[in-house]
Amino acid sequence: MSRALANEFSWSKSRHEKMSECQRAYFFHYYGSWGGWESEAPRKVRELYVLKKLHNRHTWAGGMVHSAIRRELLSLRRGRTPEPEQAIERVRNTMREDYAFSRRRAYWQERSRKDFSGLVEHEYGEPVSDEEWRANFETVREALFGFFSSRWVELARSLQREQWLEVDELDFDRSVFLLDEVKVFAVPDFAYLEQDGSPVVVDWKTGRAREGYDDQVLGYALYLSSRYRLPLSRMRAVLVYLNQGQEHTVAIDEGAVAGFRERFGKSVAAMRALLEDPASNVPLAEECFGQTTDASSCARCVFRRPCGKQVALPST
Ligand code: SF4
Repeated sequence: MSRALANEFSWSKSRHEKMSECQRAYFFHYYGSWGGWESEAPRKVRELYVLKKLHNRHTWAGGMVHSAIRRELLSLRRGRTPEPEQAIERVRNTMREDYAFSRRRAYWQERSRKDFSGLVEHEYGEPVSDEEWRANFETVREALFGFFSSRWVELARSLQREQWLEVDELDFDRSVFLLDEVKVFAVPDFAYLEQDGSPVVVDWKTGRAREGYDDQVLGYALYLSSRYRLPLSRMRAVLVYLNQGQEHTVAIDEGAVAGFRERFGKSVAAMRALLEDPASNVPLAEECFGQTTDASSCARCVFRRPCGKQVALPST
């Protein structure tokens, strides 16, 4: 007999962003869709579950870059020589298959590969030109080219086995730590030890800088510190903007960590205020989760149909 999964309360940066953008979307994503993988799930639960797994073309592109770099890093760790052309061609073929799968909206009947389900643009018949789809692939190609021509390839090749800490291996259950007794998920893209033993955490970015990235890597730093018993005072965090060929170092000092912990505490309190029973993570009724008034959020939202916002949107 299979063990029933419990919907445990946990915190992540993406969960915080979801709640900040729209409480109703947050409810659908973390509560309303729970159990939608079961064949006998109620119709709405199933719908929310399938919808929450959809990407948009930008997050799809970012995911493709991350998984291609993960493969390359693992291959470099095994001592192999990088083959940029083959790597990019492989990504192009996967994206073609993903696109065809999504266009048929096959995700309603079957699973695609592990980290792709379908695209919101196809679900809602959004008018995206061929030019825009091509530009999306160009973003991926440029980001990967940026990685292969960066210092990170040589650096990864030079690392001894004991210097490797993490390569976003999709082992999600392992990438967790407790902060103020709350389970926090943090999956760093890449982390290693320098020659002198100082830890470095790296996060790849395909877009431009935006607010919230510093908190994301601060969370990774706390995770590494907790998991490997590493001192935060010696840690460095680097955001790598692959398409711009730029890097930004995030300070991991006492002030930054204290600021992160304060924002984290407020975020957890706001999430708990939406629970009927915080001990068992039972939410208040759907109506208690406010709908955003920002029409641009609704225009991008995967839940716009069950939320009743699809018809009210202006056509763009
Ligand atoms: S359609 Fe708008 S109001 Fe509804 S869940 Fe999405 S973002 Fe929130």
